[in-house]
Amino acid sequence: MSCRGDSDEDSSRKRRVSYVYSPEYIETCDTLSKVPNRASMVHSLIEAYGLLKHMSVVKPEAATIEEMAKFHTDSYLEHLHKISQDGDNDDPQSVDYGLGYDCPVVEGIFDYAAAVGGATLTAAQSLLDQKSEVAINWAGGWHHAKKDEASGFCYVNDAVLGILRLREKYERVLYVDVDLHHGDGVEDAFSFTSKVMTVSLHKFSPGFFPGTGDLCDTGLGKGRWYAVNVPLEDGIKDDRYYQVFTSVMQEVRAQFNPEAMVMQLGADTMAGDPMCSFNMTPVGVGKCLQYVLQWQLPTLLLGGGGYNLANTARCWTYLTAAVLGKTLSSEIPDHEFFTEYGPDYSLEISPSCRPDRNDAKHLDQVISTIKGVCVVCVMHRCLCVNRCVSSC
Ligand SMILES: [Zn+2]
Repeated sequence: MSCRGDSDEDSSRKRRVSYVYSPEYIETCDTLSKVPNRASMVHSLIEAYGLLKHMSVVKPEAATIEEMAKFHTDSYLEHLHKISQDGDNDDPQSVDYGLGYDCPVVEGIFDYAAAVGGATLTAAQSLLDQKSEVAINWAGGWHHAKKDEASGFCYVNDAVLGILRLREKYERVLYVDVDLHHGDGVEDAFSFTSKVMTVSLHKFSPGFFPGTGDLCDTGLGKGRWYAVNVPLEDGIKDDRYYQVFTSVMQEVRAQFNPEAMVMQLGADTMAGDPMCSFNMTPVGVGKCLQYVLQWQLPTLLLGGGGYNLANTARCWTYLTAAVLGKTLSSEIPDHEFFTEYGPDYSLEISPSCRPDRNDAKHLDQVISTIKGVCVVCVMHRCLCVNRCVSSC
């Protein structure tokens, strides 16, 4: 199976890549109850394919409270710290902070949050220090957390922390989110600024979490037109997704001219994910990744959702190889988690036969609306608000 897609082999061969890893970090991330041992499975497969020797492996530092407080409120962090000490799931205040149902409190949850946030900061710092052009934290990408609220399995918004760190050097930072779910926490964090453009492609359907991310949501105040949302229906496959992605990203780049980029690559879009929504394979997501990597910007890559653990490991291993310009054998190598990849023990993921619910005409309208909003409104600011909003 070729991992290079349409990439220029020479540019990917020269690419310097940082990969945040330490045994302690993986062990901490493994404790996340929604994706138990996923961090280990992903790392083990990347290691088994021999990819570590092509990257600079960087040991992550845990984030300090001050670092997390660049986005999160002191009261939220203090509460998370307090309940983390005894794993108290019944503290009445927890409900106000989104802790409980979707984001259970377990002993050590604060240390987990600090580890994930710190690993993304370590990766971002390696870009700032020009030690690498691409930095990877597959155990990061928790895009739903708000400044004072845990949400959707996310306790700390490491993506926001990473963007804020990149902003210390780069004037305009682009955030691109291809998780199945809307990247609401990141969009909210930057909805009032024109310095960070957020782009999210996601399933948008009544009752589907988090319920935000409609085409008309384009940012607020000075940040108006700097949030781009691409709502999609179930069943979308590689080719059509790539077509939508490139149409939108071409426009985004032309209008925003980013200096650095953060991409969240949640793997819950994969065929075979328990979310049972999109019908993607690593090849399709890999082509999207190659499309933005050819811009040759400092790029931070993060994980996110992905609830079929073996498929998530397949996807992120494939993407790591794509970044490095390496071609992998489709036979999963023998390693600690080998038995998880049965019955075919293949790196490939086959799309299912579920129908694509995305109407071609509707997708064309989505693309042309986004192009219309970008061209007309970003060029002329708010003079044409009514025209654009009515076109949504
Ligand atoms: Zn997701």
